[in-house]
Amino acid sequence: MTILPVIPISPDQPDILPSGLTKTRRRPSMPPRHLADMDLAARKSAVTSLGEPAFRAKQLSTHYFGRLVRDAAEMTDLPAGSRDRLTADLLPTLLTPVREQACDDGATRKTLWRLHDGALVESVLMGYPDRVTACVSSQAGCGMACPFCATGQQGLTRNLSVAEIVDQVVYLAGVAASGAVTGSPPRLSRVVFMGMGEPLANYPRVIETVRRLTAPAPEGLGLSQRHITVSTVGLVPAMRRLIAEQLSVTLALSLHAPDDDLRDELVPVNQRWKVAEVLDAAFDYAAQTGRRVSIEYALIRDVNDQPWRADLLGRLLRGKLAHVNLIPLNPTPGSKWDASPKPVEREFVRRLQEAGVSTTVRDTRGREIDGACGQLAAGELTDASAGGAAADAEVAQ
Ligand code: SAH
Repeated sequence: MTILPVIPISPDQPDILPSGLTKTRRRPSMPPRHLADMDLAARKSAVTSLGEPAFRAKQLSTHYFGRLVRDAAEMTDLPAGSRDRLTADLLPTLLTPVREQACDDGATRKTLWRLHDGALVESVLMGYPDRVTACVSSQAGCGMACPFCATGQQGLTRNLSVAEIVDQVVYLAGVAASGAVTGSPPRLSRVVFMGMGEPLANYPRVIETVRRLTAPAPEGLGLSQRHITVSTVGLVPAMRRLIAEQLSVTLALSLHAPDDDLRDELVPVNQRWKVAEVLDAAFDYAAQTGRRVSIEYALIRDVNDQPWRADLLGRLLRGKLAHVNLIPLNPTPGSKWDASPKPVEREFVRRLQEAGVSTTVRDTRGREIDGACGQLAAGELTDASAGGAAADAEVAQ
């Protein structure tokens, strides 16, 4: 059942190109530079090159990261003559909302964005009683070709810039601050890279985004690294690079099968980096950070939900710093696969727990608005239900 898809990988990541797979040649059209692409020192040189005093960089940064304001008219501490110039140069519009959808009484909100070149991406805001989480996209489309994921069927359009990712979070932080997420605190506190794209295939920008999101205001958004989750299909060299960064973000690994035969099909990049190798890298990450890795496993009826696979997964994870997150398969257009029946799911959980492996089943936030894991297909704007990032990106509590 082995298939050999074309997996386009970002041009700045030649080391992760699986052998035999082809690279995209098309030149991506990156957006104009934005304040969030730069650290504070670079912002200071940018404002001075516009003929403004260096301290304007801090003022502008305080508006954007501290107050979540990007409209020149609201920046009344800046001289009227400078406001428009500064905002036009350093706060260009990167994301234009095309559609916003809500469900779960407003606790789950999905936004579809158009980027400067017409590419479409989505983000999801999820409110809980104790926290608000943003699920963001790191690429337009995805090159990983997982057959059960709507985004994976689209192919890769391009990497997002640092500011295009940061701006999704800043925008959603503004929505949360406005009190729109009823029953949740107004401060956005968590970010998961579980929207469109493979974050580790856009490695340098995703790492810089993490740094920007976690730098204290006004340099950044002041989130805690521990409240950020980076999810990957298992690009081993990039996982190893991540270990060397010494960050304390949570790593999620989309495993979906404990054996190479099946994982070669479900997560085609497994043809290059096998289950044993990818788990080793994940365990090394856990050992280095002291943080449990999250093993993502979408349960697909009669495909990966057999008791023997639960037992094998249990043997692989027993005694490791790992937690299994089972995701009932979310439906995607044209897919031949379904979620496992509940009794099968329960038996899978039971066997893992019996092996001593901590396991939870994710809630399915956002399904009605195609905002749940793997339902994202923002490129297909032809019907009213296009799109959907991983709104169910979190463990059921
Ligand atoms: N490319 C990264 C980030 C995306 S995270 C990664 O794969 O980890 C989105 C998560 O949802 C991944 O674990 C993905 O495998 C899972 N997913 C994709 N399609 C799904 C579907 N139809 N149902 C449930 N989960 C799905």
